[in-house]
Amino acid sequence: MNSDKPREECGIFGIYDPHGNGDIAANVYFGLMALQHRGQESCGIAVNNDRDITYRKGLGLVNEVFNPSFFEELKGDMAIGHVRYSTHGDGRAENAQPLVLNYIKGIFAVAHNGNILNYDELKEEYSQSGSIFQTTIDSEIIAYTIAKERVHSRSVEEAVSFAMKKLKGAYSLVVMSPQKVIAARDPWGFRPLCVGKTKNGAYVFASESCALDAVDATLVRDVLPGEVVMIKRGKDELISDTTNCNKYKSTMCIFEYIYFARPDSIIGGQFVQEARRRAGGYLAKQAPVPADIVIGVPDSGISAAKGYSTESGIPLEEGFVKNRYIARTFIRPTQASRESAVRVKLNPLRERIAGKRVVMVDDSIVRGTTCKRIVNLLKKAGAAEVHVRICAPPFLNPCYFGTDIPSEKELIAHQYTLDETRRYINADSLEYLSLENLPKIAPDAKTDFCTACFSNDYPVS
Ligand code: SF4
Repeated sequence: MNSDKPREECGIFGIYDPHGNGDIAANVYFGLMALQHRGQESCGIAVNNDRDITYRKGLGLVNEVFNPSFFEELKGDMAIGHVRYSTHGDGRAENAQPLVLNYIKGIFAVAHNGNILNYDELKEEYSQSGSIFQTTIDSEIIAYTIAKERVHSRSVEEAVSFAMKKLKGAYSLVVMSPQKVIAARDPWGFRPLCVGKTKNGAYVFASESCALDAVDATLVRDVLPGEVVMIKRGKDELISDTTNCNKYKSTMCIFEYIYFARPDSIIGGQFVQEARRRAGGYLAKQAPVPADIVIGVPDSGISAAKGYSTESGIPLEEGFVKNRYIARTFIRPTQASRESAVRVKLNPLRERIAGKRVVMVDDSIVRGTTCKRIVNLLKKAGAAEVHVRICAPPFLNPCYFGTDIPSEKELIAHQYTLDETRRYINADSLEYLSLENLPKIAPDAKTDFCTACFSNDYPVS
């Protein structure tokens, strides 16, 4: 099923806990567990014990790569972590992050979420001057750029700030030096990054606030687009550098609110679950249909279905039972068994559906294959009609900012008209959230949005 969804990018986490010697790796572990939805291919944790950085990383889910003995081995007061889905470079083990590198000032570690647009250009430039690369990921280019800028800067945070002037594209970063943890966000602010603090005085940086909750930290604020934020060992004060801020209009990825982020996160001041409910509400106003029940496709369609139901007055029903024990697809099913594979993951509640006119709310349609299978499951379960409502506009264009949205030729909305798509997925009606209503779903967000995969309006050329 997940092969027919845009893939999450990565999740990053960083912590400085002056009192956390025994728990630091465990805290990163819990933070990464909360961010697991952002990447399931590989993960890693790097811990700083009085300037000595040690790390462990590998392919797999967080609970597959780490075990409690690792926490015993790794003591320290600073750490960063990463969960990865490969948007750049393949899923091989050496591409797992954080990257830990030795450079002119000793050792440092970097974890990155996003996609660097001028990767090829910078790699060529560095290769021509003799650089050797150990990975195929753009995050290594970020690390090299920081290392090069460190040669003529006064501090590592200044080197990060200088590096940001050379890097083009989407990047939220956590960087750990022997004495500091630094968080930085590209000047457009494509990917989320926030700061939290615990009652014990630990500072935490995370892709989403749900990871702050996991370590009992309170959300302080978002890292601003273009900002570099630093916490130094022995200090209880965040130092902010805003020299790269306000260079461009901030363009946060709107799809974080629709699908990527966890519903319990607050991003840019906007509660994600509320944004999903609003999307459903706008869909109900925009595309009403006579029906008996509204159901959401788990997980991200559930909140939107609630919004559709509230706005339309059509009762909300639980339409599916989701098998929670299928974390990943280990066996790639043959074409013949794909429908069974979907049914194993998502089984319709026949007694609720039979004979009903159903509004089925989902987050997005990429190729249309999974949507078609789910509609067919509902029809086989006896649904009289299935009206599909999608809480995003049609995907028409690829994403270059850290999300794996396929090329145009694989996007069903790029290839077919609305009615052709409706017929392909076997729905009685099909409507998408309009581009006009899209930004209205997150009115509390203190940012503008990137909508390029829907609108073709790319914030960066
Ligand atoms: S192109 Fe789409 S997925 Fe990519 S950052 Fe923009 S809104 Fe998000």
